[in-house]
Amino acid sequence: VIIGVPKEICPGEERVALTPANVGALLKKQGVEILIERGAGEAAGFTDGEYENAGAKLVDRDNVFSNAQAILQVQTPGSNTTNGDKDLDNLKADQFLIGMTDPLANPQFAQTLAEHKVTGIALELIPRITRAQSMDVLSSMAMIAGYKCVLLAANASHRMFPMNMTAAGTLNASRVFVMGAGVAGLQACATAKRLGAIVEAYDVRPAAREQILSVGAKPVELDLDTGEAEGSGGYAKAQGEDFLKRQRELMTEVIKEMDVVVTTAAVPGAKSPILVTADMVKAMKPGSVIVDLAAERGGNCELTKAGETVVENGVLIIGPTNVPSSVPFHASQMFGKNMENLLNLLLDDNGDLQLDFEDQIVADTVISHGGDVPQARLREMLG
Ligand code: NAD
Repeated sequence: VIIGVPKEICPGEERVALTPANVGALLKKQGVEILIERGAGEAAGFTDGEYENAGAKLVDRDNVFSNAQAILQVQTPGSNTTNGDKDLDNLKADQFLIGMTDPLANPQFAQTLAEHKVTGIALELIPRITRAQSMDVLSSMAMIAGYKCVLLAANASHRMFPMNMTAAGTLNASRVFVMGAGVAGLQACATAKRLGAIVEAYDVRPAAREQILSVGAKPVELDLDTGEAEGSGGYAKAQGEDFLKRQRELMTEVIKEMDVVVTTAAVPGAKSPILVTADMVKAMKPGSVIVDLAAERGGNCELTKAGETVVENGVLIIGPTNVPSSVPFHASQMFGKNMENLLNLLLDDNGDLQLDFEDQIVADTVISHGGDVPQARLREMLG
């Protein structure tokens, strides 16, 4: 197979779909060739020379799209709704397109790829099974986002995180509260803890309690029935409005004591639940900070504006977008490894890509093939 990696064109996207290390590893396989667009890794800190040394051929963008049988992107035109369309006309029939496609928010893209006779593989749909963990970009990118969002909070905060006893008096440690203790939330807890804050966390999934303790944070208990909170694949189920209302009432008391609130609560394919209302923000101390990692999906705070910082009663509400891209070297290292592992699954002994639809990883991630949308779930969403 000839694999092609174009430079990312989505504004602000600094990651790259394969690093030189992934190129070197994949080229050890029989029958694999790799084309990299010149400058593709530059923003993430990988030079053309490193790709060349690893055995890739450095070419221009047109060459990548015309000669590669598989195009690898961090953001395909499915997830890049800003200017991704530009690449649609570059794709050819029978080509593979592997990357993030935002399949649940943008199911239409599966149809578009089917019309182009392109085989689309959506990395967001990698199933949460042990065998697929090494390919799971949502987890690896959530880890990066969880780390970085705490740094954003610390940077914006009027206070230091650690406790300090100095000749000029004692500075109290900051209190950090993490709402949603999945992959991102737990990494946020660990990062805030390392900076010296007092960290508490909350999640609807009862199983999260142990995990919160394991990263040195304190689980916040609310008097709520969460018995049914865990859905399939370890994801949270959407909660009813009554539950969310009661949760917000109890939570108001908790967050008014906090200096920093980090929200990471997501429900796959749905708008993010509102965990922090405008009234709850009013109850917070001036100078406190909310970082809303769910900003791109509507936000967990009612006042969040994606890509902006809103100030309300002296409380800063930061709604960062594409956080993993702001740590592009390590984000690419993880993304590239996830991609390499998936390719290793798909490549046969001759170095050709094969789709075995009996394999759950293939069945769950292929969103278009042979002019069709093979997954019933996506077809239903298309209506
Ligand atoms: P996510 O990004 O979908 O959601 C983030 C967190 O928000 C989740 O923990 C969720 O329970 C929580 N949440 C949702 N609604 C909430 C609400 N109303 N109030 C408070 N919290 C709410 O989830 P994630 O981080 O990707 O992972 C969730 C779980 O799945 C974790 O336990 C993780 O370890 C597990 N996981 C397993 C695998 C695997 O087995 N291969 C892979 C990835 C993740």
